[in-house]
Amino acid sequence: MQPKKVLVVDDSKLIHKMFEVMLRSYALVHAMDGREGLERLHEHPDIDLILLDINMPSMNGFEFLEEVKRSEAFTEVPVIIVSTEGKDQDTVRGLQAGAAAYIKKPFRNEEILKLIERLPPMASD
Ligand SMILES: [Mg+2]
Repeated sequence: MQPKKVLVVDDSKLIHKMFEVMLRSYALVHAMDGREGLERLHEHPDIDLILLDINMPSMNGFEFLEEVKRSEAFTEVPVIIVSTEGKDQDTVRGLQAGAAAYIKKPFRNEEILKLIERLPPMASD
């Protein structure tokens, strides 16, 4: 299954612009921190992929991910962490918290595109 609607949660405006260019064939929904990400998710329950930063004000990526995985409605939505936090323990923590994949910034466009194309289908499909 190809995701169609993608939620980008990142406090960098540049990253949002990059994804706009990179993911032209997808509908993007934008949030600047975890708290806003949860709001957008509830406004758009048909989101089928989340691209998530870790370092953000007000609610960071790990906290956001825990909320998403705890919720019944969104627990199946795949989350790809896209972060400069390249430390191994962060990768482990992200994957243990339920992330589908972890990509380090700076990333190559093809890296993310390939990952998105290879995501396993969600249970609801
Ligand atoms: Mg950040």
